Amino acid sequence: FLARGRDVCRRNGLLILSVLSVIVGCLLGFFLRTQRLSPQEISYFQFPGELLMRMLKMLILPLVVSSLMSGLASLDAKTSSRLGILTVAYYLWTTFLAVIVGIIMVSIIHPGGAAQKEITEQSGKPVMSSADALLDLIRNMFPANLVEATFKQYRTKSTPVIKSPKVTPEEASPRRILIYGVQEENGSRVQNFALDLTPAPEVVYKSEPGTSDGMNVLGIVIFSATMGIMLGRMGDSGAPLVSFCQCLNESVMKIVALAVWYFPFGIVFLIAGKILEMDDPKAVRKKLGFYAITVVCGLVVHGLFILPLLYFLITRKNPIVFIRGVLQALLIALATSSSSATLPITFKCLLENNHIDRRIARFVLPVGATINMDGTALYEAVAAIFIAQVNNYELDFGQIITISITATAASIGAAGIPQAGLVTMVIVLTSVGLPTDDINLIIAVDWALDRFRTMINVLGDALAAGIMAHICRKDFARDTGTTEKLLPCE
Ligand code: ASP
Repeated sequence: FLARGRDVCRRNGLLILSVLSVIVGCLLGFFLRTQRLSPQEISYFQFPGELLMRMLKMLILPLVVSSLMSGLASLDAKTSSRLGILTVAYYLWTTFLAVIVGIIMVSIIHPGGAAQKEITEQSGKPVMSSADALLDLIRNMFPANLVEATFKQYRTKSTPVIKSPKVTPEEASPRRILIYGVQEENGSRVQNFALDLTPAPEVVYKSEPGTSDGMNVLGIVIFSATMGIMLGRMGDSGAPLVSFCQCLNESVMKIVALAVWYFPFGIVFLIAGKILEMDDPKAVRKKLGFYAITVVCGLVVHGLFILPLLYFLITRKNPIVFIRGVLQALLIALATSSSSATLPITFKCLLENNHIDRRIARFVLPVGATINMDGTALYEAVAAIFIAQVNNYELDFGQIITISITATAASIGAAGIPQAGLVTMVIVLTSVGLPTDDINLIIAVDWALDRFRTMINVLGDALAAGIMAHICRKDFARDTGTTEKLLPCE
C-alpha cells in the first residue's frame, strides 16, 4: 500500500503540490486579513505571485507564434482547412451552448430580485459603445505594427465633453432652471443670454481610436496562422523557417517544464495576495451572493456536464480521465485568471498526459485561448440579465436572443487576460439598451468569478483539442507531415 502511495505521489507530485498550494493560499490569505497589513506590506507579500505571472506572460509570445507557424506549416492544405473549419465551428457552437446555460440559470435563480434592495447607485465612468467595441475587435485582428502588437492592443478611448451651460431661451427646455441676463439697449431692456443652472450639465462622450496596455494576442494569432499556412504552401523553400519555429516551440516547452516547479510556490502568494486585497466579504455576499451563485452554477453545469458529455458522445472516451490530465492547467487558470498565461501549461498537460498530437494542439490551443471562452460568454449573459433584473427591466424574447448573440461575440473579443470579460460586457449591455454604468455593480465579485470562468475557458480549449484529435485522426494518420520530419529535436 505504501509503495503504491509513493508511486502515486511520484507520478502526480506536481499536481498534488498545486492543489495544496491553492488550499494553503486561501488559508494564508484569510489569516493575514486579520493581521491588518499595510498596503506596502501587501505589495511585498504579493511579489512571488507577481513573478509567476511574469514567467507565464514571458512565454506567451514565443509559444503562440512558434506553435501556429510550425503547426500549420506542417499540415497539407486540405488537412489544415478541415481542422480550421471544424475547430472554429466547434468553438462557436459550444460558446453559444454556454450562453444558453447561463440564460436558463439566471432565469431560474433570478438573482436580480434579491439584489434590488441591497444595491445602491454607484457612479459610472465613461465607456465605449458597442459599435466602438466591434471596430476595436476588427482593428485588433489587423495590427498596423507587429512589434506594437506585442505590448499594446487597440481600445477606443472615450473622453467626456461637457456641453456649455449657456443656452438661448428658445433652446431651453421647460425643465431647466434658467437665469436670464438682461441689459439696457437704447433705453429698452433686452434679454440677450440665459444661464442654465440645471445641476448636472449634459455630458457627452467623444470616442476616438486609441490603444491600451496588454498584448494583442488576436492580431498575433491571425498573423502567425496566416504565415504558417503560407510556409506550408512554400514547400522546401519555407522549410528553414519552419525548422526554426519547431525548435523555438520545443525550447519554450523545455522552459515550461523547468518553470512548473516554481508554480506551486507562486500560486500560494498569488491567491493569498488577492484575498488580502478583496472587499469586505460579508457586505459583498449580501449584495451579490445570489448573482455569484448563479454564475458558478452555470459554469459547473457547462464545465462538468455539458462539455464532458459532448466529449464522450463524440469520442466515446472517458472525459474524467481526460480532465484529470489537464487538472494542473485548470489550477493555474484558477490562480492566474488568464487563459493566455495558462497556455504553456495547457500544452504541457495535453502533450504529456493526454498524448494529443502536437500538430493539433499547436493549432487548437492558441486559437482557443484567444477566441473560445465559454465561461466568459456564460458570465456575460448572466451579468446582463442580472443587471436588467436589478433595474426592473423586462427583457422580451428578441432581446434575450440579442443577448445570446452579443455575449458570444463579446467573449470572442475578450482577451485571455484577467477581467477582460468585464470590458467587453459593454457590447452586450448596449445591444439591449441597458445602462453600461451598472457594470460597476458587479465589479466587487468579478475578480473571484473571473478565476472560475477562466478555468472553464481553459477546459473548453483542452476538450476541443481532444475532440479534434479524435475527429481528424484519419487525416493525421495519412498526413505524416513533411516538414515535421525536419528536426531531430522533434
Ligand atoms: N480572464 C478570462 C480569461 O483569461 C477572460 C475573462 O473572462 O475576463 O480567459
